[in-house]
Amino acid sequence: MPLIHTFAEAMRVIIDRLTAAVTGIGTQRGGLPPVTGELRDGLRARALADTPVGFVREQHLRTDQDPELLPSQQMAAIGIVQRGDPLLSRTARPLRLPEDADKARRAEEILIAVGEEARKVHPFKEGPGLNTMQLHPTEEALEYSVAVVYMPDTGWTTLYNPKMNNDIPRSGESTRKLDWEGCLSFFDERGKTDRDELVYFDHVLLDGTPQTSSFSGARARLWAHEWDHLNGKIYTDYDVVTIPIAEYRAMRAAEAAAREQGT
Ligand SMILES: [Zn+2]
Repeated sequence: MPLIHTFAEAMRVIIDRLTAAVTGIGTQRGGLPPVTGELRDGLRARALADTPVGFVREQHLRTDQDPELLPSQQMAAIGIVQRGDPLLSRTARPLRLPEDADKARRAEEILIAVGEEARKVHPFKEGPGLNTMQLHPTEEALEYSVAVVYMPDTGWTTLYNPKMNNDIPRSGESTRKLDWEGCLSFFDERGKTDRDELVYFDHVLLDGTPQTSSFSGARARLWAHEWDHLNGKIYTDYDVVTIPIAEYRAMRAAEAAAREQGT
């Protein structure tokens, strides 16, 4: 039907532009339409209709909003594969860009849609990050190497074929930091991991241009975490002691109270 065809085409243009607008790395923002709430809702609605999110929601009676659910159950309800599932041990296939640009965009679109669902059910301070290996491979695009990270100041950033580059020399003192980490695939607990505070990633733009980007602080931790996932690894594969989220929250609250009292 021509009308629906036209609408679908229009949505594709909007999604392409929005995808470009929310893809922070190496994307020229000039000339793109502003990312309005309406555009975001359009993207989400379309993605929800035919992605694991929509499917899982239909199957699981919208349980992600149920406050009685464990955090891991909330994440499972929006379509995120949970620890223990062999799917998490997969290794992502590299994209051939620009030939695979449609697959790359499609994977990104789904990841951001699912990531937005995660943001609705959990108040992230930093993140979330998400990658194709954490979703059920309901379509081919989700087998490829794509990851997204959300930060409050920059929104969603996407990397295609990210590969941590450890060959670039870093100056000065130790850049490692032991800090708390969580995973959408293991969200009932938190653990401390030792990560680089500055990381470099080689990746490829949709037009096939290779690029290297650096990330520091919380971003470095998030991208290192996603890089592990794309290689079939989650942070508990390291020598990490985890604690239940209730214990973690109580401890953080006590720390904040102590800081307020200046102790
Ligand atoms: Zn994770």
